[in-house]
Amino acid sequence: MNHRTSLWPCSLFLALAACGETAPPPPESQPTPSPAEAMPAEPNDAKVARTDADWKQKLSPEQYRVLRQKGTERPFTGEYDEFFEPGEYSCAGCGAVLFTSDTKFNSGCGWPAFYAAKAEDRVKLLVDRTHGMIRTEVLCARCDGHLGHVFDDAPRTPTGQRYCINSVSLKFTPAKK
Ligand SMILES: [Zn+2]
Repeated sequence: MNHRTSLWPCSLFLALAACGETAPPPPESQPTPSPAEAMPAEPNDAKVARTDADWKQKLSPEQYRVLRQKGTERPFTGEYDEFFEPGEYSCAGCGAVLFTSDTKFNSGCGWPAFYAAKAEDRVKLLVDRTHGMIRTEVLCARCDGHLGHVFDDAPRTPTGQRYCINSVSLKFTPAKK
């Protein structure tokens, strides 16, 4: 345990987010949903809005818990935590490209960390006042899927920011060789 002492505040901080969270339904009105079996890849600029039932069918239970119910995967368990191959990271919900390996770094926090999104408009930031803290939640701008939180605690990166993102919210595509 001693070797992780320095990581404790970070892990504890984010682990709190996993506790007792509820899932408010998306407030926006839903356009006519397309049938679940016919979900083509949307162009990157088209807003994606699905019914809760659609998401449940499309996503794995863990993806649904994180992306749609604002859950948090357990630290040091995610597929992309210590993963540094060249390529792009898309939203596991809608396929929008959100991050690239160019801005990924090892924060030691137990989740994948990026110092910037692929483009500012790919993600949406919201103030999150749950659990007695004020944090900045990061969502996919296209489907409003919960990705994680962003912190200003990475002074050694070009932006000073740490986008702390759940692996399960992402899908990696390797760069073409
Ligand atoms: Zn998305």
